[in-house]
Amino acid sequence: MIVVVNNNASKEQFDNLVSWIEAQNVKLHFSKGETHTVIGLVGDTTKIDTELLEGLDIVSQVTRVSDPFKNANRKFHPDDTTVTVGNTKVGCGNFALIAGPCSVESEEQIVEIAKAVKAAGATMLRGGAFKPRTSPYDFQGLRDEGLKLLLTAKKEVGLPIVTEIMNADHIPLFEDVDVIQVGARNMQNFELLKELGKTNKPILLKRGLANTLKEFLMSAEYVMSEGNENVILCERGIRTFETYTRNTLDISAVPMLKELSHLPVVVDPSHASGVSRLVKPLSLSAAAVGADGLMIEVHNNPQYARCDGPQSLTPAQFEDTAKAVKKVLEAIK
Ligand code: PEP
Ligand code: MN
Repeated sequence: MIVVVNNNASKEQFDNLVSWIEAQNVKLHFSKGETHTVIGLVGDTTKIDTELLEGLDIVSQVTRVSDPFKNANRKFHPDDTTVTVGNTKVGCGNFALIAGPCSVESEEQIVEIAKAVKAAGATMLRGGAFKPRTSPYDFQGLRDEGLKLLLTAKKEVGLPIVTEIMNADHIPLFEDVDVIQVGARNMQNFELLKELGKTNKPILLKRGLANTLKEFLMSAEYVMSEGNENVILCERGIRTFETYTRNTLDISAVPMLKELSHLPVVVDPSHASGVSRLVKPLSLSAAAVGADGLMIEVHNNPQYARCDGPQSLTPAQFEDTAKAVKKVLEAIK
């Protein structure tokens, strides 16, 4: 349920209303706009008398929200959310360009790529240390060592780092990581999501391989319901009957998610296509439909990459893509 309160209400009137709502055993979420404040009520609101609330002078509207996601809902928070990551921001006009290898392989590799993507305009460095691989015989990532190498690269180039977590027990290892990524395979690992919700780290939540947007937003809700509102949604393609591409980029997910939610939405064209030559056109389409950023795999030597080489751009291809994306962003301003 949302209760829209006029901002000309006195402090006493507002506080009285808040105390009354709190006594109804629901959690409150506030979003202050220029003329109104939206109070979102999360919990069992069935016994709350909407007519009673509507009768108050300071209340301009009361609406029951039937969507199961509340904190992530745009009705609760009409303005776009901006997630701050170090000295950069995502959302509300701030476009994130997250780039780096699928997995961290060595200090030389990650530092070289970090320098190249930064020079080409990346705002964050990605790199997997803990890798969710389909086969247990494939490279599983450098794990703790990979995290250390990412921190070395961060120190060298000054870009915030984004890396994937697979196990809630690892949270302490991610202390110095700027954005914790939850991969597609863990989108519905609810225990992990709840633990991440108890941290104050920005979370990059990737859409599951076969999940609906409602399920995706419910996963964001798991993080937010524990108090962490710093969630960035990432559309990374879904599984369809198509076989020429690794997944199918659900481009309509971007405007739909932005209609349903106030959270920033970024697109990963690398995992969506699995084909490096499709990364640029998909990046342009994502920018054109209003995405708040891109996450692109870049490798200094794609043919020798230990993971996802066929979908990785070279630094030069990334630079070319970044320039073209900038033009699209200017065109749609
Ligand atoms: C990744 O970003 O490296 C990754 C494993 O992506 P996804 O979870 O989308 O497959
Ligand atoms: Mn990958």
